[in-house]
Amino acid sequence: MSIEELKSLLESGRVNEDQDVIRTYSDDWTGRYKGFTSTVIFPHSTDEVAKILSWCSTNQVSIVPQGGNTGMVGGSVPLNGELIISLRKMDNVSFSNTNKNQIVAEAGATLLKIQNLASERGLIYGVDFAARDSATIGGTIATNAGGLNVLRYGTTRRQIISVEAVTGTGKIIGNLNGLEKDNTGYHLPSLLCGSEGTLAIVTRAKLQLWPEPEETVAILFGFNTIEDAVNLTEACMTANTEIIACELFFQKGVDLVRESYDLQPLWDNKNSIYLLCEFAGDSGIFDRLSVNVLGKILQTHDSVLVATTDRERQRLWQYRELHTVAVSQKGIPLKLDVTIPLGNLPHFLNSIDTICDNINPLSSPYVFGHAADGNMHLNILQSEPNVAEMEEEILKFVVSLEGSISAEHGIGRAKAPYLHFQRNEDEIRLFREMKKAFDPEGILNPEVIFSTGN
Ligand SMILES: Cc1cc2nc3c(=O)[nH]c(=O)nc-3n(C[C@H](O)[C@H](O)[C@H](O)COP(=O)(O)OP(=O)(O)OC[C@H]3O[C@@H](n4cnc5c(N)ncnc54)[C@H](O)[C@@H]3O)c2cc1C
Repeated sequence: MSIEELKSLLESGRVNEDQDVIRTYSDDWTGRYKGFTSTVIFPHSTDEVAKILSWCSTNQVSIVPQGGNTGMVGGSVPLNGELIISLRKMDNVSFSNTNKNQIVAEAGATLLKIQNLASERGLIYGVDFAARDSATIGGTIATNAGGLNVLRYGTTRRQIISVEAVTGTGKIIGNLNGLEKDNTGYHLPSLLCGSEGTLAIVTRAKLQLWPEPEETVAILFGFNTIEDAVNLTEACMTANTEIIACELFFQKGVDLVRESYDLQPLWDNKNSIYLLCEFAGDSGIFDRLSVNVLGKILQTHDSVLVATTDRERQRLWQYRELHTVAVSQKGIPLKLDVTIPLGNLPHFLNSIDTICDNINPLSSPYVFGHAADGNMHLNILQSEPNVAEMEEEILKFVVSLEGSISAEHGIGRAKAPYLHFQRNEDEIRLFREMKKAFDPEGILNPEVIFSTGN
């Protein structure tokens, strides 16, 4: 067995062994996971992916599938010298021939590329978030990515109509028939969505597009208490069908973003809890908002900024979207992406500082996230040397509040030791058996989702 043998099965230029190139693929976005490998392979077609996986399976060579490498849980990094299969060269996108509202995308196409094509027909793709210019459709399927508009369009799982993939033995499975109704046995798009590259490599998908709204309005509210912000979130969800995003963030994060990007303060008063709501629909949104539950708040509340043009909206959004990068510029944070039921969210948020402080008084938590989904991103700087203790304590707290230890980033390597907090023994055994059926040699992302302890 040698890489030369694999090379001989592929067109030239597919296998890269240049360490300068490899270095840019072997560490993750967060800086927490630093991997190493001898080789990055760049297939150009599903058939090539199949050849590579068949060879790897026969020779028991472990591999890590990689898209944009923007994942947050260390799933795309070769920590044990696995080969990397990068899907980046497979990035074609085109409209479906059989359904005007669907796109066919190769796994390496970025979210931005998909959105740009969709907009040519006045359509949008339902999943969007700050890493849109690097995160790929394969990676977003593998992690069941959520993002900013889950409230309206759902997570990635709801956007995939059909999927094509290659199993750990090199078998091509799935189809691109684009049929919403296709109850022929197990539903592969659902199964592969969120499987984090442990069952198969996604090569192509057919995706649902949605009509582009005529108008979009963003409103930033400032509050003094988390309870008030959560109450407004619930009110928006109950009373307003045009709500599309509802993002929560705090003064500490805004200060960090302002410091990193030299931005103006949002307002002079003391309201330090920010809720950025976006509404999208037919034109006249603001008039309709003024007469529903938000009307009174809009008229009487101190801290309200309304953005109706793209430029104004982008100005407000940058205070939220730049949080992730601004935190990473300060250091390598412990990242915990969790969901809490809305009713328990105030208690969770009011407790986090104390929990961190009790474990390590030097730690510095930043919290922000998708309020309507109860999905909070905790970024804790200076958590060393108590990272594991802090991680465990917070995830246990999440479970005690009936939340989920992974909202949208997946389990990856980071949370593999904690899978049993959420999944019982029988479930984990079944997961392992499923993996074995797809990947009998265990070559696909061997340490992702599962750890030796569970
Ligand atoms: C600034 C920033 C903001 C973000 N915001 C959000 C957000 O709002 N919501 C959200 O959900 N995520 C968010 N993320 C996290 C990240 O972008 C997502 O997890 C995304 O889905 C990863 O896509 P990727 O192509 O970079 O995948 P990678 O990081 O390359 O891989 C992620 C996982 O998928 C597997 N994988 C990749 N491609 C394939 C494939 N073709 N077949 C099978 N498995 C594959 C990998 O092995 C790995 O386990 C954010 C990241 C950044 C940097």
